Amino acid sequence: MLTQLRESLGEQAVVTDPAVLAERSHDRSGSPAVGAPLAVVRPRSTDQVSLVMRLAHAHDVPVVPQGALTGLAGGANAVPGAILLDLTAMDQILRIDPIDLAAVVQPGVITADLAAAAAEQDLFYAPDPASAAESTLGGNVATNAGGMRCVKYGVTRDAVRSLEVVLANGDVIRTSPPTVKAVGGLDLTSLLVGSEGTLGVITEITVGLLPAPGPVRGITAGFSSSKAALDAANQIMAGPHRPSTLEFMDEVVIGATLAYDPDAGLPTDAKAWLLVLTDARTAAADDIASYVDVVRRHGAMRVDVADDPDRVAELLRARRVLNPAMHALRGDSLNEDVAVPRGRLFDLLVRLAELSDQVGLPIGTAGHVGDGNLHPVICFDPDDPDQVRTAHRTHELVLGLANELGGTVTGEHGIGLEKLSAVDAELGPRLRGLQRGIKDVLDPTGVLNPGKKL
Ligand SMILES: Cc1cc2nc3c(=O)[nH]c(=O)nc-3n(C[C@H](O)[C@H](O)[C@H](O)COP(=O)(O)OP(=O)(O)OC[C@H]3O[C@@H](n4cnc5c(N)ncnc54)[C@H](O)[C@@H]3O)c2cc1C
Repeated sequence: MLTQLRESLGEQAVVTDPAVLAERSHDRSGSPAVGAPLAVVRPRSTDQVSLVMRLAHAHDVPVVPQGALTGLAGGANAVPGAILLDLTAMDQILRIDPIDLAAVVQPGVITADLAAAAAEQDLFYAPDPASAAESTLGGNVATNAGGMRCVKYGVTRDAVRSLEVVLANGDVIRTSPPTVKAVGGLDLTSLLVGSEGTLGVITEITVGLLPAPGPVRGITAGFSSSKAALDAANQIMAGPHRPSTLEFMDEVVIGATLAYDPDAGLPTDAKAWLLVLTDARTAAADDIASYVDVVRRHGAMRVDVADDPDRVAELLRARRVLNPAMHALRGDSLNEDVAVPRGRLFDLLVRLAELSDQVGLPIGTAGHVGDGNLHPVICFDPDDPDQVRTAHRTHELVLGLANELGGTVTGEHGIGLEKLSAVDAELGPRLRGLQRGIKDVLDPTGVLNPGKKL
């Protein structure tokens, strides 16, 4: 099979160098590869992907589609004897259409590059995972990536209009016409978004664009309790001034962030913190006045207005150091990604604080409060076996807690390898069975990313 691939794709496109295999065998989750792969294959076109899949299907060789490997769930990790299908060489922005407000891209395009190309035409690609400078559009679509702007613009799925997909047997399909409206069939586009490489290889993506927004401005507010901050966030969400970003930090995260970066600009005495931004082109001042009014009415102890881009960038930086700051508390951390209905967020925070006391490990929580998607971080000393065991037990308890509160074990990072049993529990046997049935239709021999997600 590799000989055939070398003949068709060229020598350079088929790599068996152990150092490259090791490098491409895992993502950023910290989970190890499940087994040693056969080769890294780097196609440059849909036809080449189709050939790889035809051969893999015929020879029963597993295939793991891969983007930039920034995933946080082990979804792109190697499995035994697999072809690691590295799609990063398919990196062309094929078209930006200012009439249809759409872009057509290959899967290896870096998210920030598409955003920059759209901005050059005064257009806007809204999805903004924090990994945008590295992650690929293919990876974003396959994980249905989120980010800080979802609260206004939705997740990656909301931007995707149509996909070209190579199926497990090498057939090439287009999931729908690229029109804004298309209800002629079952919604295969949505089915493929978030499928984590288990249902097909995404080889071309049509996304919707928007007119460029205005400059980002906003406020931060420190509160004397998490309850007050959550109530203010809920009122902002229910109001007419939809923010473009609405982020939260609890007391543990504020303390860890200040210890990590004393100049982070966070209020030292606050028990909770909100960041509320607007990117409205007109009447942004009304948005900001409304946010100030809401947080003040909920007893904010300190309100800062960030009117210039430098100040906004500083505030975003404070929120973005969540992981290194929490990591530094004890030397290691487990980062969760739960989502619950917004009305249960306070219960989530109370129960996390109780859990932290009970297990004796710090748990700090921050994240996308407007989406009900928070990232509790469990901190532990990696050199203390007791703490390591307790942290992993606590991780299971946090996932169970999300389900108990009517939510999910993953709001944006996905299942990959890491949360298979948790998603079994979340969905139950009936839904799991239905989903595996869909997989059987699209990939009857199970060559696509086996052992992940489903
Ligand atoms: C610093 C940092 C910040 C992050 N911030 C966010 C965030 O804000 N929001 C968020 O949602 N995630 C975030 N992530 C997680 C990660 O960046 C996203 O999941 C991203 O979408 C993965 O893209 P990738 O190109 O790296 O894909 P990979 O990690 O290579 O792959 C991810 C999954 O997609 C599949 N896949 C990749 N390409 C294709 C394709 N063409 N066809 C079919 N399947 C494919 C893989 O098999 C795998 O299951 C962050 C990660 C890091 C390291």
